Amino acid sequence: MLAAVLEDIGKITLKEINTPLCGEGEVLVKVEACGVCRTDMKCFTRGQRDLKMPRVLGHEITGTAVKTGKEVKEIREGDRLQVSPGITCGECEYCLQGQDNLCNHLQIMGFNYDGGFAQYLLVPARGVKRGILNKIPSHITFEEAAMTEPLACSLNMQESLEVQKGDTVLIFGGGRLGILNARLARSRGAGPIILVEPLEKRIAGAKNLGFDYCINPLKTDALKEVMNITRNKGVDVVIPCCPDPRAFNSGLHMAAKRGRFGFFSGLAWEEPCLSFDLNLIHYKEIKMIGGYGCSINHNKRTLEILSSRKLEIKDIPIRAINLEEIEKGLKMVEDMSELAVTISF
Ligand SMILES: [Zn+2]
Ligand SMILES: [Zn+2]
Repeated sequence: MLAAVLEDIGKITLKEINTPLCGEGEVLVKVEACGVCRTDMKCFTRGQRDLKMPRVLGHEITGTAVKTGKEVKEIREGDRLQVSPGITCGECEYCLQGQDNLCNHLQIMGFNYDGGFAQYLLVPARGVKRGILNKIPSHITFEEAAMTEPLACSLNMQESLEVQKGDTVLIFGGGRLGILNARLARSRGAGPIILVEPLEKRIAGAKNLGFDYCINPLKTDALKEVMNITRNKGVDVVIPCCPDPRAFNSGLHMAAKRGRFGFFSGLAWEEPCLSFDLNLIHYKEIKMIGGYGCSINHNKRTLEILSSRKLEIKDIPIRAINLEEIEKGLKMVEDMSELAVTISF
């Protein structure tokens, strides 16, 4: 099969490798669509602590089951599937509480196992058993269903933040995750939803995709604008969907008293770092909550939300590329020239 193999940092090679054999309890999936995300880009350009190379990247995977091993009952050949990428142990205290994105023995497809930047993907028996394969209904395309995982990460964050009707939500960053978070907040009844984004082209792209207000902090006093919109209260919920520490700091100033702050994107500390006014958390009683990845159940429920059309993503422009164009696709993610990039087979 053809696979894009990350052999070393900055070196991704398109080559024929053996199609994995499907053993007992395993499922062989023909990949149909796989999202290309910033995490893949980071692995490619900088590597990652837990990433062992050579590795086939790609964790936003959908495909068709082409072979099922002995003992596999729930999945049949021909099933259209979304793959929840985290393979969990099912036994640690976090797994037992349903918070398996925090599993002590978490292994991730496209990270610890080969992922979706290849024609076929072998789903390990432990994953099949834990229910990481979700069936995609026929009215949802593989490309749409490939958005399940990033949207499930947003669902994890917003459930922890208890985003609900009446909440004013501030999102930093009008990229894919910013837009998905806006969509999700809206579907939960929140609004108005405010975007703060310094890139004009991103504002232009995001404007009609779910925000009530778009503010460019380089052109106007963003804090003043936010205070005007919220009648000097500040926002109920802040979700930075970008790695810039400056957004983190501004968000603390823009949050209302008793506001909820979602630590959703990891911070890039190599960015110019300002001193944080962490005392704002104390004085304003801000709730600071982390959100990392998504559980198996978040994936399942997110696919249900997409299937019910309660949350529509059809109008989000997805740039489809071939597997052969993977390096170009990673570059598009890096220079932010496309909102969403997906390998389509
Ligand atoms: Zn991702
Ligand atoms: Zn576990």
